[in-house]
Amino acid sequence: NREIHLASRPDGWPTPENFRLVTTEVPTPGPGQVVVRNRFMSVDPYMRGRMNDVKSYVPPFALDAPLDGGAIGEVVAGEAGGVKPGDTVLHGLGWREYALVDAKGVRKVDPGLAPVTAYLGVLGMTGLTAYAGLLDVAAMKPGETVFVSGAAGAVGSMVGQIAKLRGAGRVIGSAGSAAKVERLTALGFDAAFDYHDGPVYKQLKAAAPDGVDVYFDNVGGDHLEAAIGAMNLHGRAAICGMIAQYNATEPPAAPRNLALVIGKRLTLRGFLVGDHGHLREQFVQEVAGWLREGRLSYDETIVDGIEQAPEAFLGLLRGENLGKMLVRL
Ligand code: NDP
Repeated sequence: NREIHLASRPDGWPTPENFRLVTTEVPTPGPGQVVVRNRFMSVDPYMRGRMNDVKSYVPPFALDAPLDGGAIGEVVAGEAGGVKPGDTVLHGLGWREYALVDAKGVRKVDPGLAPVTAYLGVLGMTGLTAYAGLLDVAAMKPGETVFVSGAAGAVGSMVGQIAKLRGAGRVIGSAGSAAKVERLTALGFDAAFDYHDGPVYKQLKAAAPDGVDVYFDNVGGDHLEAAIGAMNLHGRAAICGMIAQYNATEPPAAPRNLALVIGKRLTLRGFLVGDHGHLREQFVQEVAGWLREGRLSYDETIVDGIEQAPEAFLGLLRGENLGKMLVRL
C-alpha cells in the first residue's frame, strides 16, 4: 500500500517537498471495518486550507500522516453493516491505495448506474455544491442573469449548465484560458471571458450589459469586486470559495466597493455544501435525469498514479484542470 503524507506545511504556494510518498502494509479489517481498494480519489481546493495549522470548519491535516479526502473503490476485505467484498463504496479516506474504513462511514453506490468517477464530481460533492449554491443559497429564478467565476472547473461548469436548465435568462462565466472559454460556450454559456484578458469588471459589464442578478463566487478578490459592481438591485451572491487567496501570504484587500451592498440591497451569503444534504436526493434525481437526456455534460481531468497525487493537487491550484480533477489509483 502506498499513501501520501503531509511532510511539511506550505507557506504560500505548496511545493512537491510538502508531500511524501510512504509505503505501508495493506491493512486488515477489525470488527465493523472494511478495507477498500481505492480506484479514484478527489483533489479539492479546500485541502489547501487544511494544510495550514489553523482552526477552521474542518480540522487541519496532521504532519507525517496520510492526507484524506473523497475517494471511491471496491471493498476487498471485511464485512459489516451491509457492506461486503465486491461492493463499490464512496468514503473519505483518499490519498492512499488501500483504505481501512468504518463500514458506517461509507456509502454504497451502484457502479452500473453511472461511471464511478461521477460520484466524486457531477453526482457527488461538487455537483451538490453547484446545485445547492445556485438554487438554494442564491435562490436563482427563471429569467435572471447569472455570473459564475471559476466557470470551467468542477463546481463552476455545473453552476452554468444548471442555471440554463433551470431557465436563467443569461449565463456568463469567467475562466483562465482561451480553451476554457471556448469550452464554456460549447456547454451553453451565453458569454464567457478569460480573466487574464483585461479587468474583470470591464469584461463582465460588456458580457452583462443589463447587470447581474445572481453571482456564484468561486474566486473572490477582483471577481467579487467586479460582481458587486455589476449586480442589480436586490442581487444575491452565493459565496462558495475564494481560490484567488488560498495561497496568499498577506490578507487580501476587501472588495473596495463593498458599500454598494447598501444602496443595491445586495445579499452576499456564504455556505458549505455539508449543510445542504437534505437536497441530495432531489439533486441526484434531477441531475441524473439531465445526464440521461444528454442535456448536461461534465469534464474530468484524470491523473494516473498515487505518486502523482501531489502534482494533481498543485495542477488544480494552477488551473490545469478542465472540470473535475481526479487521480486514478
Ligand atoms: P475547480 O475545478 O474549479 O478547480 C479550481 C480552479 O480554480 C482552477 O481550475 C483554476 O481555473 C481556478 N483558479 C485558480 N487560481 C485562480 C485565481 N487566482 N483566480 C481565478 N481562478 C483561479 O475546483 P472546484 O470546482 O472543486 O472548486 C471551486 C471553488 O468552490 C473553490 O473555491 C472551492 O474552494 C469551492 N468549494 C466550496 C464548497 C463549499 O461547500 N463552500 C464545496 C466545494 C468547493 P482557471 O484556469 O479558470 O484559473
